[in-house]
Amino acid sequence: MERIQNYLGGEFKDSMTGDFMEVYEPAVGLVYGSMPRSTQDDVHFAVDQAVKASDSWAALAPDARSKWLIRIAEAIEHNADQLAKAESKDTGKPITLAKQLDIPRAAANFRFFATSILHSHTPAHHTNAGIFNYTNRHPVGVAGCISPWNLPLYLLTWKIAPALATGNCVVAKPSEITPMTAYLLSGICERINFPKGVINIIHGPGPTTGEAIVTHPDVSAISFTGGTQTGRRIASLAAPSFKKVSLEMGGKNPNIIFDDCNLEAAIDITIKSSFTNQGQICLCGSRVFVQKGIYKKFRTALVESARNLQPSDPSDPNTKMGALSSKPHLKKVLGYIELAKSEGGKILTGGNRVHLKERCKDGYFMQPTIVEGLDNRCRTNQEEIFGPVISLIPFSEEEEVVAMANDSGYGLSATIWTENLSRAHRVSKSLKCGVVWVNCWLVRDLRTPFGGMKQSGVGREGGEEALRFFTEAQNVCLKI
Ligand code: NDP
Repeated sequence: MERIQNYLGGEFKDSMTGDFMEVYEPAVGLVYGSMPRSTQDDVHFAVDQAVKASDSWAALAPDARSKWLIRIAEAIEHNADQLAKAESKDTGKPITLAKQLDIPRAAANFRFFATSILHSHTPAHHTNAGIFNYTNRHPVGVAGCISPWNLPLYLLTWKIAPALATGNCVVAKPSEITPMTAYLLSGICERINFPKGVINIIHGPGPTTGEAIVTHPDVSAISFTGGTQTGRRIASLAAPSFKKVSLEMGGKNPNIIFDDCNLEAAIDITIKSSFTNQGQICLCGSRVFVQKGIYKKFRTALVESARNLQPSDPSDPNTKMGALSSKPHLKKVLGYIELAKSEGGKILTGGNRVHLKERCKDGYFMQPTIVEGLDNRCRTNQEEIFGPVISLIPFSEEEEVVAMANDSGYGLSATIWTENLSRAHRVSKSLKCGVVWVNCWLVRDLRTPFGGMKQSGVGREGGEEALRFFTEAQNVCLKI
């Protein structure tokens, strides 16, 4: 059994009460470890450590902070195999995906913000003769970073790295469902002698440990990624004390496929945007709108490709589809299949749980699923499923598909497939979402603003946006 501990003030600790929670391996459906069930007292201790370390960390010159972050990036790269195995075991995702996406991106997050603070600048304004203004950016102090289970190390470090780079100390909470790589990151910090108290990683349930971070008076900013309901709760808890909040939440992303697209590429990438990480990426497309001229051809090819994509043991390097993250989540996703049927949807392929053989016989696997025949307004097409389930919807005209794509409470991302450049620009501009990919998907440049509109998000991450979020602007007006 693996034993995960909190990492507070540079030391490994159990929760003060000694209470633990079980950690499951989704591919086998069994407990493989335990983690602390941290309480408010543990969170208070964590925040105290961060407060104590704040002044000296903030006082470091950017190049000194940068060097520390680079050391973390290097250590992640050095331990990439161990981290990828742990991520795959903890989440059920294919080991190859963890090796190619999650762990390299975690290292890239540290490298990116380590170097961006060496090149960032603040404005100065010449006002009148003899008067000018300049802007300081101060760290907020202690930042609370709360992340979900789908891309555990990738998303946690996407928050921790800019917070540290800009001179803040951090209290970070990974999801209780996937705590392992955050724990391994704690080990990395200890091994490289990272300054004590600057990074504190605490484990426990969202409604207790998470809320204690959100409501702590010495935590000045909360960076959260997770579900919209949780985001709403965090916003309401943070509002009375006017904390800064960045909320990256759910989506119901449209893929818009026009009949002049490169069909082969559109099918290939739509399979990826639908089923990568078992459909558990906030950026996965879930409503696939296909223009009528190519609808039948697209559907036939998509269904055939989905049938060829069957789940198998995530620890096998050839596996392309693994297990869902937890038993309750599998149940939720299968519940949506029943809902889709009851709403009149036809299951073109998939729809069932899969029991693999031997060690994976009780794992949380399900088939990639394609549904057809549902109206855009029905619950299946409006609520976030967050699993390997997509809904095909035919359309005739550009205006019609834009209206349907925007007819959602969410506004995170979209993909557009067309060879018509004018249309690509026009449709991109008319979509009410924060991220648009044209003829591609999940291509990321860490300098770009990342986040959603409507119920998908408040604020943006990435590049300058993240550097601004974790700092407070102060203008100084100077008469010479
Ligand atoms: P949750 O909202 O359930 O949890 C996210 C994090 O918040 C977890 O660490 C969780 O802890 C914690 N948490 C839960 N309740 C509270 C609370 N009351 N106060 C403080 N923290 C709390 O999301 P999931 O983990 O289920 O992740 C899936 C969701 O994340 C999907 O909706 C997905 O769309 C969204 N997501 C959004 C992304 C984006 O960039 N927009 C990217 C990736 C995912 P614990 O798990 O221990 O309960």
